[in-house]
Parts: sequence; C-alpha cells; structure tokens
Amino acid sequence: MNVNATDEEVAGVLRHVRERGFEPIELPGADRLAIGVLGSNPGSIRDAIVDLPGVVEAIPVSKPYKQVTREWHPESTVVDVSGVCIGDGSFTVMAGPCAVENREQMLSTARAVRDAGAAIIRGGAFKPRTSPYSFQGLGLAGLDFLSEARTATGLRVVTEVVTPGDVEVVAGTADMLQVGTRNAQNFALLEAVGDSGRPVLLKRGLSNTIEEWLLAAEYVVAHGNPDVVLCERGIRTFEAYTRNTLDLSAVPVVKSLSHLPVVVDPSHATGHRHLVAPMALAALAAGADGVLIEVHPDPERALSDGAQSLNFAMFEELMAQIRRLSLALDRQLATVPSPAGEAVQG
Ligand code: PEP
Ligand code: MN
Repeated sequence: MNVNATDEEVAGVLRHVRERGFEPIELPGADRLAIGVLGSNPGSIRDAIVDLPGVVEAIPVSKPYKQVTREWHPESTVVDVSGVCIGDGSFTVMAGPCAVENREQMLSTARAVRDAGAAIIRGGAFKPRTSPYSFQGLGLAGLDFLSEARTATGLRVVTEVVTPGDVEVVAGTADMLQVGTRNAQNFALLEAVGDSGRPVLLKRGLSNTIEEWLLAAEYVVAHGNPDVVLCERGIRTFEAYTRNTLDLSAVPVVKSLSHLPVVVDPSHATGHRHLVAPMALAALAAGADGVLIEVHPDPERALSDGAQSLNFAMFEELMAQIRRLSLALDRQLATVPSPAGEAVQG
C-alpha cells in the first residue's frame, strides 16, 4: 500500500481480496503496510487489486517459500525469545551441553556460560540419536533441570523436541523449541511446532538444499508461527575430516533470500573442538545473527558429542574473541534482560 493509504483504502483492498475467496495477511512494515495473499492464481488477484486506491504495486512472489522470502516481507524478522531478541543486529550466543545429563552438570554449565556472556542455555532432554543404543536423554527429568538452570541464571532455554506428541510438554519449559537436523523435514513435527506459540530454532537438514531448508521453515510459518530462527549446522559431503561441512556461504545467501534470522552451529558442523572457535568467529564475520556452541564441564566424560564440546575455559576464551571481533564489526552481544527489563549481561 501507499505510505499514505487511508484506513478505508486498506479496508477496500482487504474486502476485494476476501470477495475473491482469499484470506489476506496484513504485513506491517516500518514505513508502509503490505498485504499478502496466498493462492494458486496470482494473476486474477493481481488484476483485481492493482488499480484500487491506495495500492502502489502488486508483486507476484516468485519463490516457492512464499512467506519466508524477502519478496513477501522485505524487512528482517526479529525473533523475541522471552526478551532475548535474535535478528535485531545483535549477536546471540547460545551455549550448553549436547545433552542434559544431570542437575549439577546443567547448573554449573548454565552459570559458566552466563558468566562468560551467553544469553541462551541449550541442552537436549530428548536426544535424536543415530544409534538406538546411544544415550537417549533424560526426557522429562531433563526438562526440570533446564527449568532450574533458567531460574538460577536468567538464561533463556532452547531445547530439542523430536516428536509431535512431545511439543506441548517441551514448550512448557522451553523458551525456544529446536528442530534437529534429522527431523528438519518431519512435516508433522514442523506443523506441530508451528502451532506451539514458541519460537523455533530450525536446523538445516543433513542433506538439505537451501531451498528445502526454507520450505521447511515455510511449514512452520504457514502454521501460524512467524518466529523461526534458521540454524546452519553443516551438511553431509564427501569430506570426512570434519563431521559435516560448514556451509558458511549459506549465511549471506539465506539472509538475502529470507527475512528470517540465521545462526550457525560450529560444534555439530565440525565435530572437533579445536575447530569451533575459528568457525564461530567466521560465522560472526559472515553476518550470522548468533551461534550455538556445545559446552560441557568435562568434555572427556560427556555422554554425547564430547569431542566437539568446549570446556568452560575454552568457552570463556572464545567469548573474549567474540567480544573483540564484534567490537570491530560494530555488533553488540545480545543480553539477557532482567525482570525489570535491564540488561544483566554485557
Ligand atoms: C544438537 O543440537 O544437539 C543436535 C542433535 O544437533 P543436530 O540436529 O544439528 O545434529
Ligand atoms: Mn550434540
């Protein structure tokens, strides 16, 4: 719509769209309102509204992922994770163990990563393991330890949900739901997290093209949940030295194609702890909105992903490097708001 379109002009367009059997979606921007229409015959709706008063242009969306493309929503989306904003230009550090193992491990890690400057604690209570004989996570008890860690530190919680039936219970604890790489195209799960009312951290599927990844995000958004954060975590290639191949160019590619925030997980991408810091810094330099880092009090004894987990001292050192680089790049570290709305962490 024109910047100066009146309420009547907007209502006129909405009425015309509805009269043709489509449901319009109002997309307010910083300086003007757009009206999105999803349907299979864009020509007919375009002809019907293009000359209406207040309409500046009618743009057919060319991409298959209609609502997550920048064509639909030119401004970047900011995802609010219980007060921690991802995608607002700040750099959000999410850190914690691969799996929740016990209360002490969770609480000590939460304190350490908070003191070092993370804003969000991670840890899987439900683990999607490649082998059925590997540690599968503590389940509900794990959620309780995450909850306790949040109360003790103020950190927000991101944790994985692996099955649609668990979405409600995990959403009862998590500030953000993680959909893992093995479930990235589990469409029933994507729809369930779309209905959950919680922000979603969507990992890129092991062998997903960027288009498939964005279409997975589209499932969540199409189910009424606009709060999706995309996470590049490495893809499967012929290279065997690293666990996966970090596709860092996906960060600027996705940022140009989509308005959704993009973060990078250098832990799962590389599989080796000595590669985590360089790739985390590269992610910051590439324009990512944050990183997801595995940290464990005693990586040698971790029940999962010890080889790629940083100990507390390594994480502190990485945070110092992130601070220095973000200063040079004019980026702020995301902080945890206190209950009064003041920043607790710098
Ligand atoms: C994880 O974050 O612990 C995890 C299992 O990640 P991914 O789904 O990327 O392998
Ligand atoms: Mn892991």
